[in-house]
Amino acid sequence: MKRFDENTTEKVKELLGSEVKNIVIIPHVNPDGDAIGSSLGLNDVLRNAGFTSVVIVPNDFPTYLNCLGGEETTLIYEQCTWLCHQLINQADILFFLDFNDVKRLGKLETYLKECNKPIVLIDHHPDPQIKADYMFSDTDVSSTAELVYDFIESLEMLDHLVKNGANALLTGIIADTGSFNHNASRPNMYRIVGDLINRGADKEKINESLYNNFSEKRMRLLGYCLSEKMEIYQQYKTALIWLSAEELKRFDFHPGDTEGFVNYPLSVKGIVFTAFFIEKYDHIKISFRSKGSFSTNEFSGAHFNGGGHRNASGGEIKLPMQEALLLFRSLLPKYSELLEKD
Ligand code: 5GP
Ligand code: MN
Repeated sequence: MKRFDENTTEKVKELLGSEVKNIVIIPHVNPDGDAIGSSLGLNDVLRNAGFTSVVIVPNDFPTYLNCLGGEETTLIYEQCTWLCHQLINQADILFFLDFNDVKRLGKLETYLKECNKPIVLIDHHPDPQIKADYMFSDTDVSSTAELVYDFIESLEMLDHLVKNGANALLTGIIADTGSFNHNASRPNMYRIVGDLINRGADKEKINESLYNNFSEKRMRLLGYCLSEKMEIYQQYKTALIWLSAEELKRFDFHPGDTEGFVNYPLSVKGIVFTAFFIEKYDHIKISFRSKGSFSTNEFSGAHFNGGGHRNASGGEIKLPMQEALLLFRSLLPKYSELLEKD
């Protein structure tokens, strides 16, 4: 099935068939299951097709994603900056995956600004702000992993998609849809899922590593958040959870531990908007989620330097935690009309 602009597809096909040998794939900072899954899936296909390809992630990723082989094929920019610079310099083309704004490159942004390499963007976020030479952007799909499959199919490279790559792509789809719970109504996604399983992807194993692989401390942190830290503002159909650096330390926080926490309050009857504030060393990182028409990405863009999708977005702010929370709470009355719609 071809959904991409034929011209762009043809040009990329031509490039890959001629001058391109070395490829670097880059997902967004604080990579999640889709960022890692789509990158490793594409990487596997390109390697099987004979290219020299690596994945460079801006910073470390959650350990539950190691089962995809990420440990062996992925370099972490913050940990081996010099080597990453070499690989980027040698690259004939760069693939940017699962983000729509260069700010999401983290510390890599500065270096990549200077280097003049052709860029292919594959992403499912709205309003891409990246000047890519070749753009594969579609907000209707479940995930970037789904889009990578479409990309591989359009380039007639599906023969190179085997077990490892299929597992990685299915991980991306499962992670971004919350196991087929949201953004998962389009039949084409299920066609792709079926084909990935045919190629050896193991749905049970992926579910185990994504959802049944947590430390005891992480489970207790979740319990603590729900019983002690969840604030419900019924009149604004909103819930809020926040965690200080001290609390994170107390529960032996590791990257990825709090992934998904922001979704839980949406199970409370009447709640359509949730926010999760977490204290980092020099800023507050925030996740937003909503049900229905409330645009969390517009809210995040307007007040918290962020963006994302309508129902799932993020942002950050350089304020002390209590001031950031005050700001958030003070904004709710201004949005009450929009929140009431759902
Ligand atoms: P999460 O809350 O899981 O970190 O992110 C949810 C969604 O929002 C993802 O699609 C992610 O790419 C996007 N997102 C998260 N943080 C930011 C941010 O600081 N800026 C922008 N533009 N998007 C973000
Ligand atoms: Mn994604």
